[in-house]
Amino acid sequence: MNTNRNIGDKFKSEKTVFSVEFFPPKTEEGARQILRTAKKLQSLSPDYASITYGAGGSTRERTLEYGELLHDIFDFEMMPHLTCFGHSKDEIASILERFASSGFKNIMALRGDPPKGETTFIPHPDGFKHANELIEFIRKNYSDFGIGCAGYPEKHPEAKTLDDDIDNLKRKIDAGADFIVTQMFFENSHFYNFVEKCRNVGIDKPIIAGLLPALSLKQVMNFKNMCSTEIPEKLVEKLANAPEADGSKIGLEWAQAQIEDLMSRKIAKGIHLYILNRAESALTLSHLIREK
Ligand code: FAD
Repeated sequence: MNTNRNIGDKFKSEKTVFSVEFFPPKTEEGARQILRTAKKLQSLSPDYASITYGAGGSTRERTLEYGELLHDIFDFEMMPHLTCFGHSKDEIASILERFASSGFKNIMALRGDPPKGETTFIPHPDGFKHANELIEFIRKNYSDFGIGCAGYPEKHPEAKTLDDDIDNLKRKIDAGADFIVTQMFFENSHFYNFVEKCRNVGIDKPIIAGLLPALSLKQVMNFKNMCSTEIPEKLVEKLANAPEADGSKIGLEWAQAQIEDLMSRKIAKGIHLYILNRAESALTLSHLIREK
């Protein structure tokens, strides 16, 4: 496998970094879909692509497998995600060893969520409690890795306040994270407020805006419940009043307006699209990010 490069360097340029997020497929049809999408996006050459790590133990092997495929076949600069959930420190060490020997140079380092149906995160008895501990471990053992961490413009659901959450985000930066990718948001003012608060506590690393072009009202309401993301009334109305088949068109128009506003303010160092293994949103929106 060719070696990926540290994507932290990409944020040094004046240009807005464009990235997309895949998830590892669970079925044969899903496998065909991710490969079809990767082929369609190849000519866009995103600055990097990330691939998620299965919540609560599912699809973990496939993060590595599909991360390798997307790099080897389609030449994407890949950043696999890694979560602490369910792993001892020794297991994390051997997963990192496998990532490194497969040529990966970037990791999105996360705590992870509890498995479906459970509400409290219970750390492995010999594992890490929070993402900052994982980041410290990666930085100590793989000093040349690019490390991304998660930020929450509307606060993480477990945090009491946004300020508390940002103090905890600072721990991740102090532990060695190179950049922050945000949870999805549909109202840009949350992002601007978040960036300002981060800068006020001395977080000076690049902050990448994570955007999800919505597909349907049902989908955004699920995200609202899972991530406490505000769904603006106007977006709810548009999705509620449109035929179901037009949901993705409305989602694309909404995301387009968000991107145009983000690009005009030049606060986000990058825009990361949660594409859900579909090509349409990146094909429609990437030129808005790339043009400037
Ligand atoms: P942490 O940074 O550990 O934060 C979790 C909570 O603990 C927060 O409320 C925080 O304020 C608090 N906290 C943090 N550090 C401390 C500390 N030292 N002491 C006390 N409190 C602390 N999940 C997956 O399973 N797989 C994925 O691939 C995946 N990718 C994601 C990508 C992005 C961009 C984002 C935003 C989220 C992703 N998630 C993924 C979801 C993520 O795992 C959950 O949001 C999880 O609940 C928190 O992960 P974290 O890394 O932010 O945790």
